[in-house]
Amino acid sequence: MTEVAVAGGLPAGPAESEWAAAVAAVRDLPADARVLLICHVNPDGDALGSMLGFGLGLRQLGVRDLQATFPGPPEVPEPFRWMPGVELLVPQDDTYPDPDLVICFDAASESRLGDLVGRLDTAGTSLVLDHHASNTGFGRINLVDPHAAATSVVALELLDRLGATLDAEVATGLYVALTTDTGSFRFEATTPAVHRMAARLLATGIRPGDISRRVFDTRPFGAVRLFGEVLGRATLEPAAAAGHGLVWTYATREDLVRHDQPAYVLEALIDSVRCTEEADVSCVIKQAGEAEWAVSLRSKGAVDVSAVAVALGGGGHRFAAGFTGRGALDELVGRIRAELATATLVAP
Ligand code: 5GP
Ligand code: MN
Repeated sequence: MTEVAVAGGLPAGPAESEWAAAVAAVRDLPADARVLLICHVNPDGDALGSMLGFGLGLRQLGVRDLQATFPGPPEVPEPFRWMPGVELLVPQDDTYPDPDLVICFDAASESRLGDLVGRLDTAGTSLVLDHHASNTGFGRINLVDPHAAATSVVALELLDRLGATLDAEVATGLYVALTTDTGSFRFEATTPAVHRMAARLLATGIRPGDISRRVFDTRPFGAVRLFGEVLGRATLEPAAAAGHGLVWTYATREDLVRHDQPAYVLEALIDSVRCTEEADVSCVIKQAGEAEWAVSLRSKGAVDVSAVAVALGGGGHRFAAGFTGRGALDELVGRIRAELATATLVAP
């Protein structure tokens, strides 16, 4: 995708020709076409919600042979198991080896597709739906809009252009995605257009109270105790990030075992850490393997954490980013500290 700079410093959204190519790629599918939907590893609400919502829209448009998947173990995190469209999910090893069309959701780069990356080559064609400014344009067709608050914004626009009807099932996934990536309409990305989209989704009759409770406000008691322990060891470093401050904590696999909790419960932890008043940057380090850590970074606006994540092998958005780190915990924290010391500051 050609990147055109616009006011605000973000590249422009998809060109009309790119939208037209995406519409044609779906509309011109033969009746027996096999379509494979893939979202990023460790899927969050935007990844799963935009994929499943879009998948149900495709089914409505007559696509019969349709699978959805994500890399890694096929367990859907509990907060998303109730979503319409989960019946489309297939473990990665059971997916079409050579689908006619692959559509990727919320993945900024091929590395986020894990072992499924080969499907991009064996598929008839590939379409990428995303909203990361850092997207590498790895699809044959790329609908990447860095101005979109969530990938589901791009998904809904494509469904509209395809003439799909927005029903409550489609809307549920798209709404889960939109609320996840806007922090329930709290983050800067919450534009008038976001609220207009939310109004359209709500008009289908979906119940926002039920959805929020299931996705954001429900966790096992063991996770509540685990959070207490992990928050209790949080460290505040006011001088870090060139004086903007860093707060960080970590959780090991042993912590999960002790509290009998699955790894996904830790995804919500960053939201409890990032409210620390004294730090612009917050960080949660989650053990993913013997010496492997999934790192979440957030910024309140002074520091560009996506640049920090990219420097350490990951990616994301300016104020929400992540990467996978290897080695001992203290060395990893040292690398994060070092990157933050020289991190790009966001213009006020
Ligand atoms: P989270 O901290 O919620 O896992 O991720 C925040 C943001 O950073 C998301 O936009 C996500 O796509 C991105 N991100 C998280 N981990 C990684 C990673 O390992 N690699 C890349 N490229 N992006 C990541
Ligand atoms: Mn997203």
